[in-house]
Amino acid sequence: MASSSSSHDDGTETTPDGSEPESAVETARRQLQGAADRLEIDPNIVERLKHPTKVHEVTVPIERDDGTVELFTGYRAQHDSVRGPYKGGLRYHPDVSRDECVGLGMWMTWKCAVMDLPFGGAKGGIAVDPKELSDGETERLTRRFAEELREVIGPTVDIPAPDMGTDPRTMAWLMDAYSMQEGETIAGVVTGKPPVIGGSEGREEAPGRSVAIVTELACEYYDRPLEGTTVAIQGYGSVGANAARLLDDWGATIVAVSDVNGAMYDPDGIDTRAVPSHDEEPEAVTDHADTVIGNEALLTLDVDVLVPAALGNVITEENADAVAADIVVEGANGPTTSAGDAILADRGVQVIPDILANAGGVTVSYFEWLQDINRRAWSLERVNEELEAEMNAAWAAVRSEFDAREVTWREAAYVVALSRVGEAHEARGLWP
Ligand code: NAD
Repeated sequence: MASSSSSHDDGTETTPDGSEPESAVETARRQLQGAADRLEIDPNIVERLKHPTKVHEVTVPIERDDGTVELFTGYRAQHDSVRGPYKGGLRYHPDVSRDECVGLGMWMTWKCAVMDLPFGGAKGGIAVDPKELSDGETERLTRRFAEELREVIGPTVDIPAPDMGTDPRTMAWLMDAYSMQEGETIAGVVTGKPPVIGGSEGREEAPGRSVAIVTELACEYYDRPLEGTTVAIQGYGSVGANAARLLDDWGATIVAVSDVNGAMYDPDGIDTRAVPSHDEEPEAVTDHADTVIGNEALLTLDVDVLVPAALGNVITEENADAVAADIVVEGANGPTTSAGDAILADRGVQVIPDILANAGGVTVSYFEWLQDINRRAWSLERVNEELEAEMNAAWAAVRSEFDAREVTWREAAYVVALSRVGEAHEARGLWP
C-alpha cells in the first residue's frame, strides 16, 4: 500500500512537492484560502476562520491498575460556532496534538456547513495509546476527561462524538460522567452512544451509507448506471464494508475489497455479505479470497469507481498517475494528499471529497442529538430516509457550484461550506 508520509493516518498531508509533511492545520488553512479566493467574502472573516475560537488543553490524571498515577494531556479545539454548537470527535491516539485538533476541527466546520447542519466544528482527544490501557483505566481516563471538559461542552455548547480510538462505550462513560455532575441525565451532550441510552439507529452504518449514496449520485451525474459499474474499496471496516454492501445491493459490481493484510480481487464481483467486516471478524478479508492482491495494486485497478475507506494519505504524488479509476469517492478522511489531488485533477479523475462523501456520520449524529433533546427515538427507516434527503440536498448544492465554476468537486464543496459560514458571520456581525 502507499506509504503514508507521516505517522498520522487521518488529517496530515504532504506539501504539493511532496517533501515536507504539512500539518492538518496548514492544510486546512490552505484549503480555506483556496475557497476564499473564489468567493466575494470579507477577508477579515477569512482571517478569523483560519484560527480556532478556543483551544482547551487539560491535564488528565488517572490511577493505573498498579496503583501509580499517570498524567495525560487532552485537548478540545473549538473552531467556529456561528451556525450552532461545536460538533466533532474525540480521539485517543499517541499523535493527538493541539495543531491536529485545530486542523481537524476546521474540517468539521466545513463538513457540517456543506451538509447544512446547525453545528460548528470542533475536535479533541487525548495523547494516549488506548491499546496500552485496561478497560478500567480507559473508563477512569474518560470520566476524568469529561470532568476536565465539563464547563466547555454540553448539548447547546459543544457535542463530542467517537473518533479514532474511541467508540460508543467511551461516549456512554462520557455522557454518564457529565450527567452525574450536572445532576440530571443529559443524553444530548455526546452522539454515537449505544441506542439504549439515546444513541440513534443507523448511526454506525451512516458514513458508509452516505459514501454509497454519493457514489450513486456521482455515477448518475456521469451517466453511468450503477448496474455494471465496477468498484474497488480499500478498507473493510465501518465505512468500507457498509458502502460495499449497499453498492452491491444496488447493482454495482464490487471487484476488490481490502484490509490491512491485502485485498480480495474478483473481476466477476465479490459477494460482499460473505466477507466478514472488520467489526464481524477483524482483518479476515484475505482469508476468504481466492485471489489476493496488495493494497497498492487495489488503488490502481482499472475500475469505474475507487473508494479509499481505510486511511489518510494513500493517494499521493507517487501513485496518483497510476490511479486508473474515473471517479474517486473519499470514504476515509484525507485519503488524497494535496500533491496527489493536483495530479488527479490534471488527469481529469473526478474526486468526490470526504467532507461530503462520509458526512453521513455527522448527519446521523445530528439526528441523534435531535432525538435526545426531543426525548424521541426514530425508526431505522426514518433515519435512512432523512439521511438520503440530506445527502441529496448537499449533493445538489455542491453540484450547482461544480456546474457554475471551473472547479473540482472538492473546491465546489468548500465553496458551498465557506459561503454558508461566511454569510452567517456577515449576518451576525462582529461583536462588540
Ligand atoms: P475501521 O476501523 O472500522 O476499519 C478500518 C479498515 O481499514 C479495516 O478493514 C482495516 O483492516 C483497514 N486498514 C487498516 N490499515 C490498513 C492499511 N494499512 N491498508 C489497508 N487497509 C487498512 O475504521 P472506519 O470507521 O471504517 O474508518 C475508516 C476511515 O473512515 C478513517 O479515515 C475514518 O477517519 C473515516 N471515517 C470514519 C467515520 C466513522 O464514523 N466510522 C466517519 C467518517 C470518516
